[in-house]
Amino acid sequence: MADFRKEIEKRRTFAIISHPDAGKTTLTEKFLLYGGAINLAGSVKGKATARHAVSDWMEIEKERGISVTSSVLQFNYGGYCINILDTPGHQDFSEDTYRTLMAADSAVMVIDGSKGVEAQTRKLFKVCVMRHIPIFTFINKMDRDANDTFDLLDEIEKELGIATCPVNWPIGSGKNFKGVYDRNTKKVMLFSDTLKGTKEGEEKDFDINDPALTTEIGQEYRDKLDEEIELLDGASAEFDMDLVSRGELSPVFFGSALTNFGVETFLKHFLSMTTSPLPRNSDKGLIDPFGSDFSAFVFKIQANMNKNHRDRIAFMRICSGKFEAGMEVKHIQGGKAIRLSQPQQLMAQERKIIEEAYAGDIIGVFDPGIFSIGDTLTTAKDNFEFEGIPTFAPEHFARVRQVDTMKRKQFVKGVMQIAQEGAIQIFQEYQGGMEEIIVGVVGVLQFDVLKYRLENEYNVEIRLEKLPYEHIRWIENKDIDMDKLTGTSDMKKIRDLKGNPLLLFVNAWSVGMTLDRNDGLVLSEFGKN
Ligand code: GDP
Repeated sequence: MADFRKEIEKRRTFAIISHPDAGKTTLTEKFLLYGGAINLAGSVKGKATARHAVSDWMEIEKERGISVTSSVLQFNYGGYCINILDTPGHQDFSEDTYRTLMAADSAVMVIDGSKGVEAQTRKLFKVCVMRHIPIFTFINKMDRDANDTFDLLDEIEKELGIATCPVNWPIGSGKNFKGVYDRNTKKVMLFSDTLKGTKEGEEKDFDINDPALTTEIGQEYRDKLDEEIELLDGASAEFDMDLVSRGELSPVFFGSALTNFGVETFLKHFLSMTTSPLPRNSDKGLIDPFGSDFSAFVFKIQANMNKNHRDRIAFMRICSGKFEAGMEVKHIQGGKAIRLSQPQQLMAQERKIIEEAYAGDIIGVFDPGIFSIGDTLTTAKDNFEFEGIPTFAPEHFARVRQVDTMKRKQFVKGVMQIAQEGAIQIFQEYQGGMEEIIVGVVGVLQFDVLKYRLENEYNVEIRLEKLPYEHIRWIENKDIDMDKLTGTSDMKKIRDLKGNPLLLFVNAWSVGMTLDRNDGLVLSEFGKN
């Protein structure tokens, strides 16, 4: 029993979020290096290699030349068992990216020091805020000319609406990057880029009062540092672990992932500040991760791993107890007992069949087509359901028609199955049937995936006509009279497959306008499953 507790206590499950190119892959790689999970032996492998290795396990991706999945990496470091949830970025950004955050207990936000807060960080960040999970900020690329440090923090606070608390403070940047000052230990760690790709290497520490420090960094930087520390100690939020835990205060670190500077310090602080797996809300109250019953929820479904079978893999986050291979569990939504076969996990960059896993871990199991996003599995006697995963607002819409109307059945089956996996959302005209549907996606690549899959897996050719809408809102009022609703000229009324009314808008300001014109109307950016 003591072992069981220890196993769960040492788990840390977090997602890394960033705008493309901010350095997420590089940082992850360095984390793995510290964990001994990969050995780069002094040479930095390009991201192409890392990406390749991570996504290689899916034949389907290679075939299509795109990455449609987000991966989970597990490794051990400093007595912790770490699960990193990678959130797909770039053009393969999709609703999965958001959903991955639902399975994490905390998030690391990587920001490019010369760019500040960028569009995609903002989007992902919103989901973290909604969940009130702790957010740790790593300001990367300090070896390049970075924006003023105070400005960067200001921007995070303003743009993302979260207070910041720098744990360390950079001295210069770019060619003049001298190192970072640790506000706790009052020591300066000097920057050296000889650490590239290795975990060994010398780190030179100087006490802030050591006169030798001034010689090392020069009087000008010394004066600036003193001035900034004084300002900082007077102005910035005090470190408050409670606020961090609630996601209201983000500890900020500076470093350079590429040159491996500040990465280990960050990892250590981060691990000590984050929690072991958190309890999760269900319709019967909070489920304790240390409870003896196994429980998990599905947050992602990956289709057709093997083209010859309509296999799917359901990824689930274990929320309590221990998983053992071959175990029989209740699938609450399906109302059946099932055996979870061939559970798998990504250990570092290899895919493995696993024998056991604990609360905090992510496992993938074969899904014969019975799971939906948000489903609960448990061995508990009394049934309960985990709180559902919200539907995230799609930002791209298209009208989809089948070319051959004789294939209506396949068309409906195909889009319904793909929607069930959560890759797309389907809507209908406010008054209309299934002969023509409106598809909403979070990332525009999903349109191509839809077209490809309908043709290849369901033998249905479709025509896609992109629509100009960019904003969708769920109507929260149950009693709203849709016919009386007055909106803007760019507004469109639609409904989802359950008949819930929704609104589409071309412009962001139309949302506010419509709210103004309809007293008592409540609109939401997140739908409920
Ligand atoms: P991702 O898209 O967020 O995963 O970003 P990557 O980790 O792939 O990094 C994008 C580019 O930035 C790559 O060319 C990296 O080598 C480079 N990069 C990452 N971290 C740093 C850093 O600390 N300093 C510098 N100069 N370049 C970096």
